[in-house]
This record gives sequence, structure tokens and C-alpha cells, in this order.
Amino acid sequence: MEDLVSLCKRRGVIFPSNDIYGGMKGLYDFGPIGTELKINLKNSWWKSMIYERDDVEGLDSTILTSPFVLRHSGHEDTFTDPLVDCKKCKSRWRDDQIENGECPSCKSKDLTDPRPFNLMFKTAIGPIDDGSSFAYLRPETAQQIFVNFKNIVDSTSRTPPFGIAQIGKAFRNEITPRNFIFRVREFEQMELEFFVKPGTDEKWHQYWLDQRLKWWSKQGIASDKLKLLEVEKEELSHYSKATFDIMYQFPHGLEELEGVANRTDFDLGSHTKNQNDFSIQAYVQENKNSTTKLAIQDLEKKEWFIPFVIEPSAGVERGVLAILNEAYTEEPENNRTLLKLRSHLSPIKAAIIPLKRNNADLVNLAHKVKSNLQALGLGRVMVENSGNIGKNYRRHDEIGTPMCITIDFESLENQSVTIRDRDTMKQERVNLSEVENFYMNYFK
Ligand code: ATP
Repeated sequence: MEDLVSLCKRRGVIFPSNDIYGGMKGLYDFGPIGTELKINLKNSWWKSMIYERDDVEGLDSTILTSPFVLRHSGHEDTFTDPLVDCKKCKSRWRDDQIENGECPSCKSKDLTDPRPFNLMFKTAIGPIDDGSSFAYLRPETAQQIFVNFKNIVDSTSRTPPFGIAQIGKAFRNEITPRNFIFRVREFEQMELEFFVKPGTDEKWHQYWLDQRLKWWSKQGIASDKLKLLEVEKEELSHYSKATFDIMYQFPHGLEELEGVANRTDFDLGSHTKNQNDFSIQAYVQENKNSTTKLAIQDLEKKEWFIPFVIEPSAGVERGVLAILNEAYTEEPENNRTLLKLRSHLSPIKAAIIPLKRNNADLVNLAHKVKSNLQALGLGRVMVENSGNIGKNYRRHDEIGTPMCITIDFESLENQSVTIRDRDTMKQERVNLSEVENFYMNYFK
């Protein structure tokens, strides 16, 4: 983990957030390289969920969420972790971090009993901060999918089986954020809510487990590092009939990368039942007491039913950490470190390096090659006008650029370039007219 963290800082992948003011625990920023990696991972998920299928629609909803939604989803009551205080050193822990009844920091046994701590962040809405008008920062993207269910069904005429997918920020006030970007307070989720007829849910649950394992292996995660773990009945979330966690062997241990839950008809059912909850007068006054049915009409049987939901929910940060961990390779024999990333995830797809810095002819040709490759639309291609080939190769090995293209004086004479492969370090002379094909082969 330390080697990864240091590479991430050195090469602009991930920085501690608010760093110049001492940082903030559990928050990280993605630098130029990390941002591209994250975009590529999210695009790969979006492509597999939406473009390569015909039964899933996308959504981009707000982060600020009405307390009404999170009350009836069960989050106000149950989205908690057990919190333990050390009375001696005043540190706070999640109950599962306490061993032998001792404070992990000062070893005192003078601890409070565990009590539930709600993980949701609250914020005031509007200029008057008297607690009467507030919103939550969503703790999962899923709830906004459920409350938009009718909008999407009405506007797309979908009937089950179909899904709604969303990628976006989620916030959890984790008691002890830790292990780099594994457990943080602000992160992104890639969530699919797949709506099916009751009775077909178990079959679809298995289907999505298979799909998700295949997808992770396409992102370069070795299948033998992934394990499926069925969550025990007493540990299931309040909405779940069955949940399987896709576990990955992270540098700090075997932990959850993605959860695939059978949420039954709990969420749609609960939002349908509770929208006209007159006990909450403040919301009612604001006209939030509609009785929208979050249900589907079975046209043959002429009856309404509430679909069951299968939810694969993956964290982008945990995905990035797993992918970086898999790709990280040290080759002492070649005196280098490299990220063996799958090309579709590589932050930089190709680096074009003029042999001599600021030589107008070389640099112009480099830009021409760059714009041709850039136009193919596979991601960021860049010109490295620093003149130090060895240094550029090392940098691009470390950030996982699959190929470096060197423009030298021979290129001006015979229209050819040298292409160096990241993994084999093999160099090949390629005609300019062939470069696009050569490049495209990396993405097949
Ligand atoms: P954990 O048990 O590790 O706290 P969880 O079961 O609460 O996770 P879910 O509610 O199933 O997590 O959320 C779905 C996904 O969101 C997780 O599989 C994970 O990838 C991601 N995730 C959840 N909490 C965090 C966090 N604090 N930091 C980063 N990613 C997170």
C-alpha cells in the first residue's frame, strides 16, 4: 500500500484533499492522471450497463436529498455504525475495531458501550439555519433512482425486466476512514437498480453476480483475487433478502469491492406507502404529499405490482484501488516500476515524444500525430516536449501509458516513428501511415 500511495502522489494520481491546510481525514483528490483513470473506469461501466445492452436507462440526479426520502427508505433509523468512545484518551472507534475490550490507541479498557451513530451528513437548505429546513447529502445514489422510477417508466415506457443506472457522489460520515481511498467520507458509486417481476428475482440475482464478476475481470482484476461472500442473515441491510459481496484481496486484506443485493420491493413499496405520511406536516405543506404509485401495471392480469430490485453497487474509489493494486509491477531487473493497466483504463493512451525539445519540425510532426490519434476518441493522447526520452519512458511506465511514440530526425526524412511497448519495452519502427492501425490494436 505504501508503494502505491507514494506512486499516486509522485505521479499525480491521488492527493490528500485540502493538503496545504493540513488535509482532512477520509478525503482525497484525484490529480491529472487519477482523474483520467476514474473517467475511464466509469465510462467502461457505463458502456457495459447502457450502450452494450438494451434494457437499462441512465439517470443523473441530485446529491441533496429530502429527509422525507431518507426517512422512508429506512436510512434515518438504520443507516448507523456502532460507535465506541474511549473515556481515557477520548478517541472514537467502530465497535469492530475494538479487540479484547481495549482502546486500540491507549489500551485503556474504560470504554463506553457501543451506540448507533448515523453516517449521513446533513446540511441546511436556504438562508435560515434554524434546523427547520435541511437536506441530507445522499449516502447512496440508489434512493434517487427509486423516487424517479415513475418519471422514467412514464417517459420511456419500460416494463420489467429493465434497469436504471447512475454514477455519482455519495457521502458517509465514516467513524474511522482508513486504508487510503478504501474507506472515505466522500466517494462515487456506480449503481444499477434492475427491476424484475417478483418470483424471477433470484434468477436475476445470479445473472447479475455473473455479469459483475466478468466485468471486473475485464478491468484487469485476476479472477482468483475475487471471492463471493454471502452476507449472513443477521448482518443484512434492512431492505435486503440476500446480498453477496464481491470481495477483493486489497493490500490491507480481503474486503468488499462491490455489493450485489436483492432489495426486494422494499424501497418502491415504502416510497409508495409513505408519500402521504401526514405526520410530517412540514413536508405536507410544501405539497410533498402526493400518492404516486411506484408500481407497474400487469396489462394481462389487469393488476398493479411492485417490482423487485436487484442492485449491483460498486465504489469507484475501491475499483481504482483494486485496479492500481493489480497493475502495480516492480521490475528491479529493468530498474523500473510500471502500471500494467488494461489500455482502455490507461490515463494516457499514447505519449508522443519529439527526440529534441523545442525542435520545430519534430514538435510539429508530434502534434500532427497527436491530433490524428486524439481524433480516434479513445482518450487522452499527449505530446511530451521535454527532450529527455529515458525520463519520459520511466514516467509513462509508472502511469501505465501503453505506448510511447518517438519522433526523431529520421521521421522527417522517411515518415516513420519508433513505437515502444510499455510491457515488453520492445521498440518497433513503424510507418506514419500505419500508426493509427498500430494504436487501435491496443484497444481490441
Ligand atoms: P462496508 O461494509 O465496507 O462499509 P457497505 O456494505 O456499507 O461497505 P454498500 O452500502 O454496499 O457498502 O455500498 C456499495 C459500495 O460502495 C461498496 O461496495 C463500496 O465499493 C462503496 N463504498 C461504500 N462505503 C464506502 C466508503 N466509505 N468509501 C469508499 N467506498 C465505499
